[in-house]
Amino acid sequence: MNIQENYNRIKSQLPSDVQLVAVSKTHPVSAIQEVYDLGQKVFGENKVQEVTEKYPLLPKDIQWHLIGHLQTNKVKYIAGFIDTIQSVDSEKLIREIDKEARKNNRTINILLQVKIAEEESKSGLEISEARDLFEQYLNGEYQNINITGLMGMATFTEDQDQIKKEFLVLKKLFDEFNQLKKLETLSMGMSDDFPIAIACGANSIRVGSAIFGRRDYSR
Ligand SMILES: *Cc1c(COP(=O)(O)O)cnc(C)c1O
Repeated sequence: MNIQENYNRIKSQLPSDVQLVAVSKTHPVSAIQEVYDLGQKVFGENKVQEVTEKYPLLPKDIQWHLIGHLQTNKVKYIAGFIDTIQSVDSEKLIREIDKEARKNNRTINILLQVKIAEEESKSGLEISEARDLFEQYLNGEYQNINITGLMGMATFTEDQDQIKKEFLVLKKLFDEFNQLKKLETLSMGMSDDFPIAIACGANSIRVGSAIFGRRDYSR
């Protein structure tokens, strides 16, 4: 399978209201350009250094999403151009993003990453922490960020019921928040579990290997 076939196959499976974030981490600029040329505008990267290297080499109308854990001291490197930070997992990080966005005279979209996996290794806010941060946001504490939704990752398992159960926890929280303020994005689902995620209400999915092929983890 080549990239073009992979991309077209995935696109053809998606309902028109589901956003595809093409996760290009570890893949070269040439591969990203190839997918861009097929019409894709939204790309996800998980490392600050990698996205800051790729950004100047690619078309300026790409919307870059950061999807990996972000250290506070690195926010400044991406604040000038990042469209959305999907992996916001602490109050300290929100404050820093808000501050750096203000310095750059812009608003940065963020998703609150919520820990839904029972697996210990996955990061994210506890549900109660997400509620607290959302409340602060509704009270006007963060003027240069826009909380556009929630992001979550399910446990890495073959057990479809387990995955579904975890996704539905996030869908429920999304509905709760959505009552308080209209949210755009429920980001859940990756190459192996995006059909389940969509069935559970995801309207944005993050797909890497199913488009670009396997990653070389030695990098
Ligand atoms: C790498 C990554 C993805 C994409 O994973 P694939 O299995 O390659 O589709 C999605 N979300 C996050 C947070 C990732 O780090």
